[in-house]
Amino acid sequence: MKKQIIDVIEANKDAIIACGEYILNNPELGFKEYKTSEYVKQEFKKLSISYKENLAVTGVMGVVGKPDADVNICVIGEMDAVKCYEHPYADSVTGAAHACGHNAQIAQMIGAAYGIVKSGILNECNCKITFLAVPAEEFVELDFRKRLVDDGAITYMSGKQELIHLGVFDDIDVAMMIHAHALTPQPRLYMLGSSLGFEARQITFLGKSAHGSEPWNGINALDAAVMTINAINANRSTFKDSDRVRIHPIISNGGDLVNVIPDKAIIETYIRAGNISALTDACSKVDNASKAGAIALGANCSIENIKGYAPLIQDENLSKVFEDNALMFLNSGDIGHHQDMTGSTDMGDVSNIIPAIQPTIGGFDGALHSKEFSIVDKEFVYVTASKILACTVYDLIKDNAAKAREIKQNFKKCI
Ligand SMILES: [Zn+2]
Ligand SMILES: [Zn+2]
Repeated sequence: MKKQIIDVIEANKDAIIACGEYILNNPELGFKEYKTSEYVKQEFKKLSISYKENLAVTGVMGVVGKPDADVNICVIGEMDAVKCYEHPYADSVTGAAHACGHNAQIAQMIGAAYGIVKSGILNECNCKITFLAVPAEEFVELDFRKRLVDDGAITYMSGKQELIHLGVFDDIDVAMMIHAHALTPQPRLYMLGSSLGFEARQITFLGKSAHGSEPWNGINALDAAVMTINAINANRSTFKDSDRVRIHPIISNGGDLVNVIPDKAIIETYIRAGNISALTDACSKVDNASKAGAIALGANCSIENIKGYAPLIQDENLSKVFEDNALMFLNSGDIGHHQDMTGSTDMGDVSNIIPAIQPTIGGFDGALHSKEFSIVDKEFVYVTASKILACTVYDLIKDNAAKAREIKQNFKKCI
């Protein structure tokens, strides 16, 4: 069967590469992926895949197999771009560019769909397979997203979080996707890397303005903010290295005029950590530091808490199935393990509720989110990756989905 899957994907590789290149040339930011969404729908139509659209604004979910099956395997592709005006494929108006390689993910998801639908494996399968084109992985344009929340279009500010909220993942047992591995032009695979979870804070200090030469008549909000940053720094030695806590505040407003004691100052910060208990601990230390900074100066502070992403926990049993299939195309020396990512992803949220993986692959050069980021090995990134995904799905669904059931049974929910 796997040979059939691989042959079908090979025979359709022009369409798969065209998909990735179309999206590369039509980059769109999160919750605005209308052209990408339309392209996915057209591909689903070509493959006679029934789908639901407009999920979390632009998301599309195609489903094949037995509608009432009790096992549902999901292949995910993210649709959104990042802002990078200098990127050679950037949209000159919006600055959107696929400098994180998400265009490849959609091509891989569509490629896997070709392999699964056209190989005939569905005839012997007793489960469901879901192809999910997901909006808005990058946590950006927060003002635009807050407006979407205010308008009732979304409740959460990232695509997968919103889809979890909408119940899309309630019926999904196992989820997988592939991400680009930066600065790795060669065909490589990296398994089991974790990512950091994060929360964001916007802390506003309010004091009292006064002439700069008469500070005794004012309450200096900037000093309260500086005290807060010093208090955060004093906490750094309490974080264990293994928890990988990162706090990187900026003062986004520190006063308006040099001869006025500032009555307002704003700190914005992300707080990142490798596990949820360390993240919770670090967040409460930042909140305490903010209150302490305000009290020290007699100012007031308000803390806006913006929920970010959970840490990514890659399912080991599912990773093993994926890696075994990758070995059909790669040597074991081309596969690395446990290279943790310093960034964050909302696949982390998914991985805390169902078994999920997000291996990363080479074939890309340049740093993520930079103008140098590019696909250098289209064959590997678009076509071989599709084959690995489709063959992994096959291993999960064969024999009445024995492997998928085993993975599901051994999974421990974290949230
Ligand atoms: Zn990114
Ligand atoms: Zn990305």
